[in-house]
Amino acid sequence: MRVSVIGTGYVGLVSGACLAEKGHQVICVDRDADKVQMVRDGVSPIYETGLEELLTRNIGNRLTASTDLERAVLTTDLSLIAVGTPFDGSAIDVSYIKGAAEDIGKALAKKDGFHTVVVKSTVVPGTTDEVVAPILASRSGKALHDGFGVAMNPEFLREGAAVSDFMAPDRIVYGASDERTLRVLDELYAVFPGVDKIRTSARTAEMIKYTANSLLATLISFSNEMGNLCTALGDVDVTEVMAGVHLDHRLSPILEGGRRVTPAITTYLEAGCGFGGSCFPKDVQALIAHGDKAGYPMKLLQSVIEINRKQPARLMQLLRKHMPELKEKRVAVLGLAFKPGTDDMRESPAIPLLEGLHGAQADIVAFDPVATHEAKKVFSGMAVTYAATLDAAVKDADAVILVTSWPQFQRVPKLLDKAAEGVVVIDGRRMLDKHSIPRYDGIGL
Ligand code: NAD
Repeated sequence: MRVSVIGTGYVGLVSGACLAEKGHQVICVDRDADKVQMVRDGVSPIYETGLEELLTRNIGNRLTASTDLERAVLTTDLSLIAVGTPFDGSAIDVSYIKGAAEDIGKALAKKDGFHTVVVKSTVVPGTTDEVVAPILASRSGKALHDGFGVAMNPEFLREGAAVSDFMAPDRIVYGASDERTLRVLDELYAVFPGVDKIRTSARTAEMIKYTANSLLATLISFSNEMGNLCTALGDVDVTEVMAGVHLDHRLSPILEGGRRVTPAITTYLEAGCGFGGSCFPKDVQALIAHGDKAGYPMKLLQSVIEINRKQPARLMQLLRKHMPELKEKRVAVLGLAFKPGTDDMRESPAIPLLEGLHGAQADIVAFDPVATHEAKKVFSGMAVTYAATLDAAVKDADAVILVTSWPQFQRVPKLLDKAAEGVVVIDGRRMLDKHSIPRYDGIGL
């Protein structure tokens, strides 16, 4: 199929590159000419494992990039909208969605034949049918179901594993109000045989995405609340508590023959310094706001956000417990992006942490294997030394705070072997053996 992807960010670029790899003819469109040029050159504007290989293999062949949205719409059968949907503090901001729909609608006015428009961005229930479809109709002068079709197709990829998630999805969900449009989506995703597919309404597809993200965010805040209680009670470690919880056969089933399966869901049932990224915080807040509008205040999700907002501050509290005066103390912060495998700094717990350390006049040394260039933009006004290696970051540190669970941070106890006994280690992800470091502390300990 000939596919145009409007918005070449995390979701748009990964979707475009993967659909090209699967055999579709794809044009990735973005307003940002620099981004488009990078993609044309086979250079990924974001760090994502396997993405650059896909770009180099497909660019100029089944994959092209352009700033010309009109031409992209005119020369393709289907357009995926993958623009941002930030939370503006009181509701979801659909201005980029509206902008993309207006541009696509204007292009459709010049097009003969049916075109399918698919919202891939995360939008609150009702947006596709009540916002996108009317804009397309008014700008194109065409009738829904006759001149064009509209569908919603949420994306479930995880940053850090985006290419493998897209190429081997656990489910594909798409919703539309007419059979013709659903059949176009059947064809688009026929290249994923054997994958569970849900064909539904656009409204249900929109709600599935929010419900899935809200559940995962709730599990994280639940685990953090238990961890914080363990700390308050004393003499009980949340990691041992959660290990006992994980062994519930409904979380970790026992197969015939006695072998136990440990599903990935258990990784959301571990205490840490909180969730961040471009999705969970904004999506949960957008759903709360949407619930308020619908006359249903969502108390549980409000608490999920509140617990998460306070969680990064626990790292500072733990550090101050061991080191009340931080002025000119060398503090190594390990991990800056919101999770390993990505350079995405959006809503990272490292942001409030570095602000706190800066306020306390600590001497901050930061290290992240891939996010340094993004972090430099975020902390531009702050005195931060960026270490080139983990070893350099930890060297001569008075304290080490672990924020992101990069596997190589397991080396920290070994590196500290050579250092003075007095180094304080605050483990924000509870990934190190607490007995391996003399002055160890962590969330939920
Ligand atoms: P992003 O900010 O990385 O990318 C959006 C891109 O759209 C930008 O490059 C911007 O320049 C471009 N753009 C905006 N308006 C445009 C227009 N009218 N024409 C052409 N280009 C335009 O966003 P993202 O992280 O890829 O997220 C996109 C959507 O997907 C959001 O709704 C998000 O919630 C959802 N989502 C994101 C993820 C994720 O892991 N990032 C996962 C699932 C779903």
